[in-house]
Amino acid sequence: MGFRDLSKFNISLLAKQAWRIIQNPTSLLAKTLRARYYPNTTFSSSRLGANPSYTWRNATDILSIVLPESQLHDKRVWRGEKTGLYTVRSGYRMLLNESHLSQAEKEAFRSVWNVQCPPKIRIFLWKSLWNYLPTLQNLHHKRIAINTNCLRCNGNTESIEHVLRDCPFTHHVWQGLGVTWPANVDSVSYFEWLSWLFKQQGVHSRELITYTVWAIWTARNKHMHEGKFQNVQSLITYILGCVSEYKSCMQSQGSCQLQIERRWSPPPEGYTKRNADACCLPATKKAFSGFVLRNNQGKVLGSGIKNQRNFVSVFLSEATALKEGVKFALNLGFENLIVESDSRTLIEKLEVNNADASEIRTVIVDIKHLVRDLPHIRFSFSPRSGNKAAHVLASLGKAGTEGFWVGDAPAPVMHAIEADRTVVPS
Ligand SMILES: [Zn+2]
Repeated sequence: MGFRDLSKFNISLLAKQAWRIIQNPTSLLAKTLRARYYPNTTFSSSRLGANPSYTWRNATDILSIVLPESQLHDKRVWRGEKTGLYTVRSGYRMLLNESHLSQAEKEAFRSVWNVQCPPKIRIFLWKSLWNYLPTLQNLHHKRIAINTNCLRCNGNTESIEHVLRDCPFTHHVWQGLGVTWPANVDSVSYFEWLSWLFKQQGVHSRELITYTVWAIWTARNKHMHEGKFQNVQSLITYILGCVSEYKSCMQSQGSCQLQIERRWSPPPEGYTKRNADACCLPATKKAFSGFVLRNNQGKVLGSGIKNQRNFVSVFLSEATALKEGVKFALNLGFENLIVESDSRTLIEKLEVNNADASEIRTVIVDIKHLVRDLPHIRFSFSPRSGNKAAHVLASLGKAGTEGFWVGDAPAPVMHAIEADRTVVPS
């Protein structure tokens, strides 16, 4: 079923190139393609050569829908997108409308387009849904590969289902992330399986699933082409890092560039700022809290690392770390407190009065109870880059450190603390 629609996707990608050429006729790409396809004319007035590829012919067809033949000086406006600029998304959408996908298929593709992730990862996911990845099985069909055995387990044919779902290595990664599905999926296609995962509105976000599929494939390529092997645990850590980084990126102003240089900022005089972070190891069901208290000079008033004993989810661990940091501050008598977190969702939940129904509701209730009679407590959001010291503390927990330090912090954290202090006006 895939071929016809996949080719449409390719056509909309190519049409994007064509659109770029029209917008920017002096670019290198434009010059290269002109030499090949339309040496003596402009793109929009070009005729197809004697033997154009199917894809190229269709790409020119798409754009000819909207391109006036003769008015070369008019501004070209693409009607598929409100901005008037051509995008792969709108090109594909237009082609999709005239095709005969089932309702379920259309829904699955729509949800892919709505995943919050960089475009290259979204396109990867799209290709995977069409089974368009060069798995050994697919290469074998095209008579490119002879051996189809999975490189990792060497036992099974490397189909898309095997490499992204069934291979024991892959299975451990999904398990470590807590993503599960009913047993016996042997007869379930990758497409059906992924659509099913996407529909489960559980703890696991579509972003996590998307990044995981992409990271597993990328690790497989590194293993195959560069001989670099990444183990299950480091892949899990990498995936969680990608997801939380991208989310906090999107949360702060909606732009990555804007927040890269954002650093920790000191509280106003008379206030203490509390930063906390969690370090999670889902595979071993472990999580650690790290928290640090600082004054308006950036000086450490106290810090702590606590083993949470029991991992349920990253979100719950973040909430627990926040609670433990608040407890610690109050125990030391700091009641003029600014509680900073890199999770906007957490901060929002703490600020509203209505009852929370999420998995972290008991922790939210505990925190609200802790601060109920304290008028000088504020909760505020800070991007991850402003939370390095707490992040280092939480990672020390993973290495076996645990404890509380009054007026001090463990040595490895001091570098992050000093870096933060350099921006504090003296
Ligand atoms: Zn395998």
